[in-house]
Amino acid sequence: VIPLFHHSFHRRYSAAMTAKFKEYKVVVAGEAGVGKTALTLRFVTGQFVEEYDPTLEDGYRKQFVVDDELFLLNVFETNYRSDGAGEYEALLEYEIRHADGVLLVYSIKSRSCFTGIDIFRKRILRMKNATSVPLVLVGNKCDNLAGEREVTTDEGMDLARQIGCPFFETSAKEGTKVDEAFSKAVLDRVCRLLVLVS
Ligand code: GDP
Repeated sequence: VIPLFHHSFHRRYSAAMTAKFKEYKVVVAGEAGVGKTALTLRFVTGQFVEEYDPTLEDGYRKQFVVDDELFLLNVFETNYRSDGAGEYEALLEYEIRHADGVLLVYSIKSRSCFTGIDIFRKRILRMKNATSVPLVLVGNKCDNLAGEREVTTDEGMDLARQIGCPFFETSAKEGTKVDEAFSKAVLDRVCRLLVLVS
């Protein structure tokens, strides 16, 4: 794991690397508790980290290969509240404005998080001041099927179809489809398969 902004060595190292790597910024956005940190850490470290210090980092970078190309991915996570009344709205807007791709995350255990997704998607559009932005819809905690599921797979697929974006049900806990979701955000950018949003 190479934390961002921590050490001048890393800054020099990353400056040298960016010449050779395609560098992208992916923002993991969702309401509190949907599993953004767990997904980010699963992607970056390959592990499910249950205990972490929330003040430790606000961004990570990871090199990885998609379709034989090397990428350097800067991953940031950001909380939102669908009513826009969150504490860090300015930061959220900054992150979204500078994002190459956005993972829109809800928890399959929470109907209200799922409902908030479309409201937030429209806010992203206004923030980006654009008609299109690469999104990946992510329903996390799909390992948790013991009667706690509130959002069906079909509902997730329907919403993704409406938005016109890729969809994955993930589990940060078990590692299901996590790399796929992050890779897709990058690939969509590379292929310029920008998702049309209305
Ligand atoms: P964040 O606020 O969106 O960053 O959410 P966290 O990553 O802090 O996760 C909130 C809680 O959900 C924690 O207790 C995690 O251990 C748990 N969690 C996160 N991802 C998963 C998952 O894929 N499956 C299960 N069962 N629990 C998860």
